[in-house]
Formats: sequence, C-alpha cells, structure tokens
Amino acid sequence: MGSRVGMAWGWATCRGSSNRMISMEKDMEERPGRGAARTWSPRTTPRITRARAIRGALAMTATVAMLLAVPGCGPDRANSDKAQPRILIIGIDGASPRVTFPMMKAGKLPHLAKLAAQGVSGPLRSILPLYSPRIWNTIATGRTAPEHGIPAFVHETPDGERTLYLSSDRRVPALWNILSAAGRTVGVVNWWTTYPPEEINGVMVSDHFFPEQITTFKKFFKDRKASEGALLHPVSWAPRAEERLLDPTHPTDFRDFLLDNEALPHWLVRPTLSQQFVTDEKIVRVALGLQADYRPDVLMVYLPGIDRVSHWLWGNIEPAELYPPNVQPNDDERRAGAEALHNYYAFTDALIGRLVEGYGPEDLILVVSDHGFEAGVGLTVLTGSHNTLKAVDGILFARGRGIPADWPAGPVNVYEIAPSILAFAGLPVARDMVAGPAPFIGQGEFESVASYDEIPIERYAPAKSGNEEDIIEHLRALGYLEEKTPPQADERLPAP
Ligand SMILES: [Zn+2]
Repeated sequence: MGSRVGMAWGWATCRGSSNRMISMEKDMEERPGRGAARTWSPRTTPRITRARAIRGALAMTATVAMLLAVPGCGPDRANSDKAQPRILIIGIDGASPRVTFPMMKAGKLPHLAKLAAQGVSGPLRSILPLYSPRIWNTIATGRTAPEHGIPAFVHETPDGERTLYLSSDRRVPALWNILSAAGRTVGVVNWWTTYPPEEINGVMVSDHFFPEQITTFKKFFKDRKASEGALLHPVSWAPRAEERLLDPTHPTDFRDFLLDNEALPHWLVRPTLSQQFVTDEKIVRVALGLQADYRPDVLMVYLPGIDRVSHWLWGNIEPAELYPPNVQPNDDERRAGAEALHNYYAFTDALIGRLVEGYGPEDLILVVSDHGFEAGVGLTVLTGSHNTLKAVDGILFARGRGIPADWPAGPVNVYEIAPSILAFAGLPVARDMVAGPAPFIGQGEFESVASYDEIPIERYAPAKSGNEEDIIEHLRALGYLEEKTPPQADERLPAP
C-alpha cells in the first residue's frame, strides 16, 4: 500500500468558464439563504462579535466557489435537489467491535442489525494515538492531526496553563463548512471541538452546550452568566435547544439502570455513571428537535456515553487477574458490571433507532466510532482504556443509495469518512485529503478539487463558555490528560 490509503479511486477535475466563476463567487457571499428549506432562518443577527478564522480572512476563491455551486460538477445526484438523499452521521465514542458485533448477532442491537442488513458493517480502522478529539477532527476533515491542528485534548499556554483546544484551533474546513459553502443545510450536535460555534448554513450546537457531560445540569442553569460566548448557532435557536434539554420525556424505553444499581462494583461512583446516560438522552432530544425544526440535508450527532461508561465498566468483561485487588469485583459485581455495559450498548442502539426515524432507504445513515476499548490498569478506579493496537478498531455501519446490502464494510479507515460523505453528497472530493471515498461508496473516478482550505469559516468570538474548568476536570478524571506533549504525526496502520 502506498502513502495514500485506499487506492480504489481516481480523480477527475471539474472545469468551468471564468465568467461563471465570478458570478458564482458573488452568489456564495449571499449564503446561507441559498438552497434552504422555507423554515430555514439560520442567520438571525447574533449579538456576539463575529470572528473570522485566519484561513477565512479572504473570500472563497472563485475556483472553489464555482466547483461547489455549478450544476454539472460532481455525480448526477448533485444535479437535482429534490432527489438528493439526506445524510445522518452518528458518532459513537469508543464503541468497540468486540462488544457490538457479538451483541448484534445475539439480537440485542436491533437498530444496528437493521442497518447492517440494509448496508455495510464492520470494524473501522483508526489511527494512533487514540485521542478522541484528534480522531473526530480527522473524521470531520479527512486530514491528519498535524494538518487539522487538533492533536490532543488540551495544550499549554505560554504561561504554562492547560487550556482546551477550541474550534478556532482547527486550521482546515470541516464537512459542515464545505457542505454549507455548497448551499447544503447542516446540523451539528455536540461534535468534538465545535466551541466557539461556527456560522454554518444551519445549526451548530457546540460541545460546550452540554456541560452536564461533566457537571450537574442544575449548575449550568443557575450559573448561566458564566457563559460569555454563544454556545450554539444561530443564537435564536437557543431557547428551543434549552427547552429540549429540559424536556423530562425519555427518547427511548430505557430508564437509567446505573444510578440505583447497587449490584455494581462497590467502588464505582454511580451518579457519575448515571450522568452519562442522562447526557446522551439530552443530546438526542436536542438532535431530534433540530431535525423537527430544520430537517437539515446533513445532520451530525456525537454521543460520548459508551466511551465514558466503558472507562469504568470495561474490566467486568476482562479476566479479573489483569487488575489490582482494589478494582477486582466479586462475581455478583462483575455480572452486574458486564450487564450494565451491555445495557449501555443496547440503550445507545435504541437512541440510534430514534435518530434514524424519518430517514428513507435512499438516505445515507452512517454510524462510526473512533476506537474500541481494552483492559486498562493505569488508573485506580478505571478498568477500561484505549491506548494500543488492541483498541485501534472502532465500528462502522453505512446504508443508503448505491451502498451494497448485507456486505462487509472493510477494509475502511477514519481518513475515508469525510471523502465518502462528500462523494455521497455529490460534491467533489479534495485531493489534499489523505484518502478517497471508502470502497462501499463506489469504485472508479470521483470528481475532485485541489483543496477546500480557502473556504471562509466564520466563528463566534472565542469568549469563555464558562465550562472550561469542568471539562478539563472531567478529562483528567478519565485519565486523558496524562501525557504532556501530544505526538504530532499520526501513526498509520495497515488495514485490519
Ligand atoms: Zn474516543
């Protein structure tokens, strides 16, 4: 295999007249009204100062604007908006093939089983080091960590303070920027490194909107003035998003099986575990509200729960002798711990079922995870980790127009996700992305452009969201801040 991953594709470049290019560039300045549904009113005069990313200081080049806007460039499905299938991308942090596929075969994950029958499924090969923000940004950009600029969770300021990577640290456009520039409507909910939110052609609910990922819901609402920056775009959607957050209804038939579960290993802090369940419910409620209000062409939703509970519960499915005595459960605790972990997968499957509702068989449904899990003994009360080759594979499910039914997905890797989504959406793939579309999207030539890097990215001012300290504290508790200097280069691995 050469330096590029996945060579089953080729490039074909789009061309157009220079007059056309100029008029298209002008059109692009008028977005995000173009191509939008009637209910779509994303740009409702935010009171917050807008900050342009460095890359976006200049208007989009004529070439890129033209390629995105001119009919006739890209596969046929790009040419008729009515026939354009919608796209739903569900990111499940840390979902492991070791748990997913046996559970699915045993009939315990009916929604994923349905996706597998309708499309392709299998392991998704990730890249080392297995740091979530790094990989989720690669999934969203198709680029390596040194290129996209988010190598880890935090970095050190010149005065030695640890600070979170923000969206303003991302140096290249993500799928939501490219799709917005092409006039597609986009919804993004809780994706890694999306604070401050970006003024996409749609709704971006940033990852700092869900502080209860790390702390209590109550504190968020009692302490709102701590947030100086907009947590989502457009700010006019904030009341509706908060209403969805507070809604007491459960999106699935599952009820919290963690908080009052006294059979769980005695050292576990059950309210912390339970908080993950509650947060995943909230994220899905907000995403369903976004779907109902805007029906975006492309929706991207990220669910952190499986990763978080796996850090605490994974040891219950590993040999006990791998662990020191203080984290060795007795037989009953072990059974309850394994059951809770499996229940969390089943709960997530039910959430996927809710998100998929309303999508037709032609629409692309893509479920991906950034890595799996392995026995982890580095920290006292955590029993699961993701550090080595044992955890390098996540999961992938994809179904939609043109995707073969009931077929193995692989080999497929995280670099192929962004180009696959662009190709499915009928947009040119960028030649500065690491790979081309995954084989299940199709073989042969794809339309391409040199790069999307000159697409302008507008962001809200990077004021304090008020949740930084809590997020850092939570990441520390998960053992994510141990390493001081993150490696720059991605360690690429052969296909599984
Ligand atoms: Zn992760």
